Amino acid sequence: MRIAAHTAETDPGRRRRRNEDAFVVEPPLFAVADGMGGPRAGEVASRLAATAVKAEAADGGGAERVVALIQAANRSIYQRSSEDEDTAGMGTTMTVALFEEGEVTIGHVGDSRAYLARAGALEQLTDDHSLVAELVRGGKLSPEEAENHPQRSVITRALGTDPDVDVDVFAVQPEPGDVFLLCSDGLTTMLDDDAILRVLQEHHGNLRQAAKALVREANRAGGEDNITVVAFAVTDEPEERTKEMAAPAAPEPDLDDTLTEADRVPTVAEPTPPAPRKRRLWPLFVLLLALAAAAVVLWFVLR
Ligand code: MG
Repeated sequence: MRIAAHTAETDPGRRRRRNEDAFVVEPPLFAVADGMGGPRAGEVASRLAATAVKAEAADGGGAERVVALIQAANRSIYQRSSEDEDTAGMGTTMTVALFEEGEVTIGHVGDSRAYLARAGALEQLTDDHSLVAELVRGGKLSPEEAENHPQRSVITRALGTDPDVDVDVFAVQPEPGDVFLLCSDGLTTMLDDDAILRVLQEHHGNLRQAAKALVREANRAGGEDNITVVAFAVTDEPEERTKEMAAPAAPEPDLDDTLTEADRVPTVAEPTPPAPRKRRLWPLFVLLLALAAAAVVLWFVLR
């Protein structure tokens, strides 16, 4: 089993000027972080978390390693916020996926999410550490009430607020065709699970377009928060075969990158500098050889 494709998209959304989300795509390691705090502090927290996860050469494998990565990220943020007044109280969510030895280990703190799209269904793998999610789990709030709850963005667990953090960690046995999706709440507060699944199915086989479409749809639905999507697909086909199969297919047009007639800007043709002439030295060489031969012949004749 191996990673067939991976992608990441992030967007500030339509209401926020700054993007306080951060992500990590360093296969086999993937992560999403959604920062919170005073002006710019959320951005600092999520970036510190991403940097720590990338830099940390944690020992062990699976759950042990994922927890060590998240604890390292937590320490990094906690330390900064205790030293730097401007960032006091900052924090971030973090959802990590590590694909290793045929197993996907998920580590999680906060209300970013990990999903698994398998066989036409979408399963939310992580439990939100948020006030409304806890009320729903406790039977005090219905999922419908939670959707529009004024305190739905209040999280109950975050990185950076305490010297240690309680990390949810578990492993998933991947199957061929699985798509793992990590995302910040800017996606899931705008799109419900059915909408996410529909977009994934519409762009089946093209993960990059699927991620772009998810961000686009979340923005169309209001884009009230920063939107981040990280995804990877799993296959059991050997690399060579996938390449062969991928080759004949025509590339799907990239909707975001395609300019329409209206976007077209007249381009000014730049004069191309004349290509430097290749000097042909061999005629000169032949001439010199002929002259030398003539000289030798002349010398014999005259002698
Ligand atoms: Mg958010």
